[in-house]
Amino acid sequence: SFEGQAPKNWQKANLTPNARVVLEKRYLKQKDGQATETPEDMMYRVANVIASIEEEMYGKGKAETKALAKEFYTMMANLEFMPNSPTLMNAGRDLGQLSACFVLPVDDSMEEIFDAIKNAAIIHKSGGGTGFSFSRLRPKNSTVRSTGGVASGPVSFMKVFNSATEAVKQGGTRRGANMGILRVDHPDILDFIRCKEDNKEITNFNISVGITEVFMKAVREGRDYDLIDPHSGASVGQLSALEVFDKIVDHAWKNGEPGIVFLDRLNEGNPTPQLGEIEATNPCGEQPLLPNEACNLGSINLKLMVTEKNGKMVINWERLSYVTRLSVRFLDNVIDANQYPLEIIDEVVKGNRKIGLGVMGFADMLILLQTSYATEEAVEYAEKVMKFIQTEARIESQRLAEERGTFPNYAGSVYDGVMKLRNATLTTIAPTGTISMICAASSGVEPLFAVAYTKTVMDGTSLVEVNPLFEAFAKDYNFYSPELMRKIAEKGTVLGLPEVPNWVQEVFTTAQEITPEWHIRIQAAFQKYTDNAVSKTINFANSATKEDIAEAYRLADELNCKGLTVYRDGSREEQVLSAGASV
Ligand code: UDP
Repeated sequence: SFEGQAPKNWQKANLTPNARVVLEKRYLKQKDGQATETPEDMMYRVANVIASIEEEMYGKGKAETKALAKEFYTMMANLEFMPNSPTLMNAGRDLGQLSACFVLPVDDSMEEIFDAIKNAAIIHKSGGGTGFSFSRLRPKNSTVRSTGGVASGPVSFMKVFNSATEAVKQGGTRRGANMGILRVDHPDILDFIRCKEDNKEITNFNISVGITEVFMKAVREGRDYDLIDPHSGASVGQLSALEVFDKIVDHAWKNGEPGIVFLDRLNEGNPTPQLGEIEATNPCGEQPLLPNEACNLGSINLKLMVTEKNGKMVINWERLSYVTRLSVRFLDNVIDANQYPLEIIDEVVKGNRKIGLGVMGFADMLILLQTSYATEEAVEYAEKVMKFIQTEARIESQRLAEERGTFPNYAGSVYDGVMKLRNATLTTIAPTGTISMICAASSGVEPLFAVAYTKTVMDGTSLVEVNPLFEAFAKDYNFYSPELMRKIAEKGTVLGLPEVPNWVQEVFTTAQEITPEWHIRIQAAFQKYTDNAVSKTINFANSATKEDIAEAYRLADELNCKGLTVYRDGSREEQVLSAGASV
């Protein structure tokens, strides 16, 4: 394990009080409930462990490695880049597990099912999330040859996975999360679609239906489609595609689940088809992976990639290029610094060397550029920024390939003979749930959730939390007053407030005010230049109809999204954050 403190003369991290609380709770080394390292020490630990790989494995000198560690440190202390939580928590410590995302195979035997449960528990303990496809399991009521009994089917096994996760939850570094996927042509698909109808069931899972092109075609043509036995590959029945589609929509309308993933599209984007098919993603859906594959993520803070030029706010392309390239090098090193929970995962990960570089603070960037999220201009920014990051990331991965070699499974991959890359994938848009709090940035590519809200603190007093960019705008443009801030906190939004200039109302538009169409168009814009997938929630007003949801699925399909997660306001009793009310 790594011992050492950040040099006193290195720059300090400009953290908000909130960010400090988050770090102290779980991220900093502790002894007897007291943090024994500062946030700067944590960044120093991470930077050194990740840089030292180049000395150990690639023959770099001591001085060069030290200089690299300082570069890594500086971009973290600046809050310009942050790796996923497990890297911050575990680098240079006993656990040493640095990835947020895993996919484990679930094969159709008792031994293999319970192996998957055990392996998931080990991964959860280290802060990683696990995704599973249950599509290979034989359907409910089919025979079990060795016992003469009947199989209980995918959904009943999911409950066992769920209980195991629940039991590990308390002891781990963070809440274990799972993704469960079932192909739409699995005979148990109807059970699966309704398995989370009761909000108290299978709570440690997100579920998504694996949609196929054959199914979508049958929906469009109003035909039946075949249910396939996963063992024989034979058709064992038929269902009306429209009816199944409506059932998915129905449940998503009721409580946001199941989501959908377009399986054929995941596989069109599979960089190593010679190794087999992609059947599942990680818990939040942004990372499709092969069985036994893991991926480490990292995100660039776009809020800090805006600069003033001739009195105008513009994107700082030069800095974005530098941070992108350094982040790719960082994440490629993470692959080697990582201690994988299983030998097989070590092998698969090092064969493909996938990384997932993405962004946070996109909404903040738009605000600084005085652009509303729900506009053509915002879609253009999304495409332009992500295209730039993808291009720069590839340039760096090519450079690394020259120095370190291509990823071992390069031969036969989609890049074979096209471009030599060190990494089979480079880009992913993560939710950045925690790291965006650490960086005080808007999460991932989501719009603002609220302009201001009331927070009840421990002694029962309520505090008004105002978005710092909004506060700055209010002061710069002379409409700031504490009363106004309280009023906004009550409403959650500035829409329709006469005190707030119209153009400011547009710039600070929030998730609930943005139509599903714009949400999806932004997701699609990022997806266009993302190797993996995009984590995004499509918000609907409480009054949205089932047809609105169905329309969103069709649009997501049309615009080449890899999946879709919807949420209708107020449809779930527990909402993570609720604007206009105390949280
Ligand atoms: N994740 C998890 N448990 C959690 C939060 C996240 O397993 O409580 C995993 C999951 O695979 C998710 C990924 O980490 O898709 C990235 O989530 P996020 O970007 O929110 O993580 P952060 O690095 O911000 O903590």
